[in-house]
Amino acid sequence: MAGELFNLTIHEAAEKLRAKEVSSRELTQSVLDRITAVDDKVKAFVTVTAEQALARADEMDNLLAKGEATSPLAGIPINLKDVLSTKGVRTTCSSKILENFVPVYNATVAEKLQQAGTVLVGKTNMDEFAMGSSTENSGFFTTHNPWNLDTVPGGSSGGSSASVAAGMGFLSLGSDTGGSIRQPAALTGVVGLKPTYGRVSRYGLIAFASSLDQIGPFTRDVTDAALVMNTIAGYDRCDSTSINAPVPDYTRGLTGDIKGMRLALPKEYFVEGVEPGVEAAIRAAVTKFEELGATVEEVSMPHTKYALATYYIIAPSEASANLARYDGVKYGFSDKNAPNLIKGYFSTRDQGFGREVKRRIMIGTYALSSGYYDAFYLKAQKVRTLIKSDFDKVFETFDAIISPTSPTVAFKIGEKASDPLAMYLSDIFTIPANMAGTPGVSIPGGFSEGLPVGLQILGPALGEEKILQIAYAYEQATEWHKQRPPLN
Ligand code: GLN
Repeated sequence: MAGELFNLTIHEAAEKLRAKEVSSRELTQSVLDRITAVDDKVKAFVTVTAEQALARADEMDNLLAKGEATSPLAGIPINLKDVLSTKGVRTTCSSKILENFVPVYNATVAEKLQQAGTVLVGKTNMDEFAMGSSTENSGFFTTHNPWNLDTVPGGSSGGSSASVAAGMGFLSLGSDTGGSIRQPAALTGVVGLKPTYGRVSRYGLIAFASSLDQIGPFTRDVTDAALVMNTIAGYDRCDSTSINAPVPDYTRGLTGDIKGMRLALPKEYFVEGVEPGVEAAIRAAVTKFEELGATVEEVSMPHTKYALATYYIIAPSEASANLARYDGVKYGFSDKNAPNLIKGYFSTRDQGFGREVKRRIMIGTYALSSGYYDAFYLKAQKVRTLIKSDFDKVFETFDAIISPTSPTVAFKIGEKASDPLAMYLSDIFTIPANMAGTPGVSIPGGFSEGLPVGLQILGPALGEEKILQIAYAYEQATEWHKQRPPLN
C-alpha cells in the first residue's frame, strides 16, 4: 500500500521504518507526491522544501540503517507553521512584511525536532501573525478544509491542520494564543494539543501575544501527540518564561484506563450559538466517558463569559508592542521609495500589514495609551485572574474539563470574513485556557453535517499527561480518528 503511506500515523510509520518495510525516502516521497496531488486545492503550504527534504531523508536512512537514529520521530516527514523560525528556510508569518525573511537560527522546537531526526517538508499557511480563526487573513492566500473545500480549515494554524488532515505531513507544529491549535484541529478532524504556558520553549516563535502564545503539535492520533511532546517539551534557558520542571514520558498514561476519574462539564460551554450537531456529539462523548468508568458532573465557571472580551484587550495590546519591531529597517519588507525615515516607517507598515493586523495594532495601542491603560489593560488582567480562579477551583476536585472545542463545525469560506466579531466567537471555548495558562487538547469527537466535531479536554497546569490519558481512552473507544477526508 505504498500509495497510502502518507496517511499513516507517526508510530505506525516508525514501526515500518524499524522493520525496514519502508525508508524515510519513501515516506518523504509519498508526502511530497501527496502535496503535488492535492495542495493546489487545499493550499496548506507557503513553502515546500522538496529537494532538501529528500536529501535529509537519505541522511536519515543512513543513520537508521546504522542504528544511530533512536527517536521514534527519526525519518518522519513533518512541517511547521510559518510562524516558527527555520534556519535558512523562508519564514513569513504569512505576512507581506516578512515575505522574504530568512532566519539565521532555528526555533528551539525546530532544533529539537531536527535533532530527533525529522524531515522538514515545508512551512504552512496561517492567518497573518496568527491573528484569525479561518486562515482567510493570510497575506498570501486562503487554505481550504480537506473535508469540504468550500469551508475553512480553522485558524490561525489552518495550513498546519489541513496538511495533517490531508496527508501532507505526519506532524505539524502550530501556535495557540487563543485557540489556534485546538480550533483548527477540531475543524479538520485531527488531534491538536496546546501545552501549559511555559512547557514548550517559544524561542524562535514570532511573537503575537507573549503572555498567551504556546507551541504545540497537530497529529493524527493521541499517541503521536504524546511522542511529539516527549521531544519538544522541556526547559530552555533561551526562553525566560520556560518552566524548569522534569518532562515525564507522555506515553506512560496511554493505557485506556480512566476508571474513577472525575470530569467536569461547565454549563457555560453549552450556550446559545453552539450548533445542535456539535452539542449532540459532545453529549454522546459524555456517555462514552461514563461507560469507560469516569464520572461526569456539571459545574459552573462563572467568569467564562468575560474571556473573549478580556482576550481582545490583552492580545491586541501585547501584539501592538510586539509588532512595533517591523519598521522597515531591521527586518523584512522596506518601502525603498519613501522620501524620508518617518514616511518610510508609515508606508512600510501600511503596505506590509493586512487589515486584521492593523485593526489589532490600533486596538492595542489605544488600550495601552496613557489614561486608558488602567481602564482597559489593567482591568483585563484582573478579570484574567478571575478566569484563572474558575479553573483553579474546578481542578481542586476534578481531573479534567470536557467541552466542545468550537461552537460550530467548519464554516464556509467568506461567511465570517467581513464580520470580525462573528469570527472572534469561534474561539469562545478555547480562549479561557490561554487566559489560565493551562493545557488543552482537541481530539476527533464525531461528525455533524459531514464535518468533524472537536472534543476539548482541558487540564490543570502541567496536566498534559492526564489529558492525554483521557483523550487516549476516548480515542480507543471510538473510530473517529481513523476517518480520512475524501480528497483525491
Ligand atoms: N483566533 C484568535 C485570534 O484571532 C486566536 C488566534 C491564535 O490563537 N493565534 O486572535
